[in-house]
Amino acid sequence: MAKLKLAIYWGAACGGCCVSVLDTHEGLLDIVAAADLVFWPIALDVKYKDVEALPDQSIDLTLFNGAVRNSENKHMAQVLRKKSKILVAYGSCAYMGGIPGLANFFSREDIFKRAYDESESTLNPGRVRPVTKNVMKEGEIEIPEFFNDVYPLSQVVDVDYMIPGCPPQSSRLAEVFMAIVSGAPLPPKGTVVGALDKTNCDECKRKKSENKTIKRFYRPWEIEDDKETCFLEQGVICLGPATRSGCGVRCVEGNGPCRGCYGPPPGATDPGAKMMSAIGTMIDSNEPEEIDSIIEQIVDPAGLFYRFSLPGSILGRKLL
Ligand code: SF4
Ligand code: SF4
Repeated sequence: MAKLKLAIYWGAACGGCCVSVLDTHEGLLDIVAAADLVFWPIALDVKYKDVEALPDQSIDLTLFNGAVRNSENKHMAQVLRKKSKILVAYGSCAYMGGIPGLANFFSREDIFKRAYDESESTLNPGRVRPVTKNVMKEGEIEIPEFFNDVYPLSQVVDVDYMIPGCPPQSSRLAEVFMAIVSGAPLPPKGTVVGALDKTNCDECKRKKSENKTIKRFYRPWEIEDDKETCFLEQGVICLGPATRSGCGVRCVEGNGPCRGCYGPPPGATDPGAKMMSAIGTMIDSNEPEEIDSIIEQIVDPAGLFYRFSLPGSILGRKLL
């Protein structure tokens, strides 16, 4: 059987998604037995011009991780879309914007001001800012344009599938990859693969009662977790009700609340809105003033409920 051609690329990413490919351990041997890696910047010295010169549709599968934050990310998303039969948004950042997407709470100018003028480690009396073109004595150099907004991959190019997670579980990647290699019929375009069709609460082994009520919210370090009872029932916000399962509820298994990296469950488009409505039903008061004071105990609600999903959510960004 002819080997598939596989590409892996990173946009605005931390590198964790690329590490998750290596974390397939011996599964990586199955992957390289079935596919030739034609492009993977973290591991192979293949130049952009080599990818640009490939015939269209000549890459069987591209895993694009990271969000689209600058003109280089966008250009490579467009090139890889053209060159690939199947383009997968791999990981939370490519899927919904991820942690880099939290920058959508600010403008480019806010970010430049903080980074180039105000940060404690910056000495920049001339208020120098990055420019995309610079003429040096050696010639003109060009750096990518930093966009005002961070985008999930699907807002820039057509995406075939999404594999969620920060990073995705390596075993899930191996399953998806081997399903593609086997030639089995693929799910409809736009399907979230490498995950399950339930919420994390459906999978969670912690004890939960039918009627959860909350009188006070705590941050995880403010309580002594009993390691058995649902975090929400202990007053700690856990995004299990608003998160697709498939990770093995690994944060809760490690005695930390879920932060929502697998994105919204089936039927929900906006994980933050789903979580806020779940919390709204649990607040144990009918008094408007008391309800307000309970809600005010939630620290950084926007960052908490949209930690991995702001650019791909209904909000998209903060209006400035
Ligand atoms: S809210 Fe969190 S701790 Fe509670 S059942 Fe859901 S996943 Fe488990
Ligand atoms: S428990 Fe939640 S935050 Fe942790 S890996 Fe799973 S989906 Fe992501």
